[in-house]
Amino acid sequence: MTTELLKNHVAGQWQAGTGEGTLLTDPVTGEALVRVSSAGLDLPAAFAFAREQGGAALRALTYGERAGLLKAVAGVLTAHRDAYFAIATANSGTVQSDSAVDIDGAIYTLGQYARWGAGLGDARVLLDGDVAALAKDNAFASQHLRVPTRGLALFINAFNFPSWGLWEKAAPALLAGVPVVIKPATTTAWLTQRMVADVVAAGVLPAGALSVVCGSSAGLLDALQPFDVLSFTGSAETAAVIRSHPKVAAQSVRVNIEADSLNSAVLLPGTAAGSEPFELFVREVVREMTVKSGQKCTAIRRAFVPEALYDAAAEAIAAKLAKVTVGNPRVDAVRMGALVNREQWQTVQDGIAALSAQTEVLFDGRQAPLIDADPAVAACVGPTLLGTRHPEAADKVHNVEVFGPCATLMPYRDTAQAAALIRRGEGSLVCSLYGDDAAALAAMATELADAHGRVHVVTPDVAKLHSGHGNVMPQSLHGGPGRAGGGEELGGLRALAFYQRRTAVQASPAVLAALGATRAPY
Ligand code: NAP
Repeated sequence: MTTELLKNHVAGQWQAGTGEGTLLTDPVTGEALVRVSSAGLDLPAAFAFAREQGGAALRALTYGERAGLLKAVAGVLTAHRDAYFAIATANSGTVQSDSAVDIDGAIYTLGQYARWGAGLGDARVLLDGDVAALAKDNAFASQHLRVPTRGLALFINAFNFPSWGLWEKAAPALLAGVPVVIKPATTTAWLTQRMVADVVAAGVLPAGALSVVCGSSAGLLDALQPFDVLSFTGSAETAAVIRSHPKVAAQSVRVNIEADSLNSAVLLPGTAAGSEPFELFVREVVREMTVKSGQKCTAIRRAFVPEALYDAAAEAIAAKLAKVTVGNPRVDAVRMGALVNREQWQTVQDGIAALSAQTEVLFDGRQAPLIDADPAVAACVGPTLLGTRHPEAADKVHNVEVFGPCATLMPYRDTAQAAALIRRGEGSLVCSLYGDDAAALAAMATELADAHGRVHVVTPDVAKLHSGHGNVMPQSLHGGPGRAGGGEELGGLRALAFYQRRTAVQASPAVLAALGATRAPY
């Protein structure tokens, strides 16, 4: 049976790429699903349509009206939710709860931006900060404005979040008044393409506001122009290629990079094995290793405990990992599905082998039998907990990201050493802290803040309330310095800034008053 070739939506039309395209498969059964191709598309014309038609239509609306568009998009996605879960099971190999992180996470994020945008009401132009005097008595003064950039927002995304990865970026972009072109990772492009198809079919966005290009990235960066912005999520390796692309370098295209990260979790001193902070730490490490088979950029890769608790923590984590069932996500008894494909499976095996040279294997789920999945075909692998009593000597654990269900447990002498070891990750998305001493936790959070986009603190009083180490909430910043890419996304309305230009208007009080702008709440 021949598979469907998914179309691209560009220049306000559905267009098929040329050639056979690339086949997308089921990572559990190996079954052929659909094909994608971006070959032969006229990308400069597609981008011009987005800028000229989509951009103008979005800019003609107020923030409140654009917030209404986001609400309508969330409504369309909610109406087709079941179809998205079916695609995620087939193409990403994820169990229902893991697919929900991607699909429901997207709908929730759109809803949040719709609410925040509604609060901006009739505003079209935002004021940034106060008037600053340039002459006596403010007779001549400077006022900063925020206006939408008159380019497009190109998103190049990673394979692990085909839904959330699009909408967490598109929500602030569309709210800011900037049209979106999404290029999903090829392996899992189906879900992204279907969502765009549903939103386009529903007619809730102006023509040109949302385009999708599925398949090769060839030519995308060449079609960028000076007022465009580019938001990339993926590996540090591809990020380096993007940063040095001539269009990006020569035309000052604004770029946001979300790359890989060796996120940490730390159990603070002063807690005993079996205490509530200890149990919360163990639970979160296990959850982060296994949700989406560890294919989350925010997942815990390094877990630190006081020296005296190393053996107890290893035992407690291993005991929970032993209960994780792995295999076909269609089977109810399965808790952890597949990696995205067999190549990724091999990369994970190689990564574990590389780390094993400097660590001991504390729990090995790699040989555990799979449920309803052929180990020779399925991209399924059980969780592996590694450990080393010599974290300063083991350099690989601080710089090799195994993008799968694997983490390394390490002991530390004191919090100064723990912080120094965490810094060897050279900048991460998130670090989580566990304990019950508020002052000590606050001190550690502050100590680690500059090296992370987010510090997540878990105390017994928030055991049932906290949002999870790896869950990216639209209220909080997502991104991290250094190795994590140096990017910033989300964080409420702060996210709009990436899609806006800040301009100083220097004028008399009468002119400044006539700007009729609304103060930006960020
Ligand atoms: P990847 O191989 O770097 O690919 C990411 C995207 O870049 C894909 O859409 C890919 O397209 C595209 N691409 C590849 N080469 C390109 C080029 N020369 N020019 C322009 N685009 C190009 O990353 P991945 O394997 O999909 O994702 C896994 C990585 O992403 C992990 O390291 C993970 O930590 C990171 N990640 C980070 C975040 C975050 O928010 N910080 C979130 C998720 C994942 P094709 O698929 O067509 O090759």
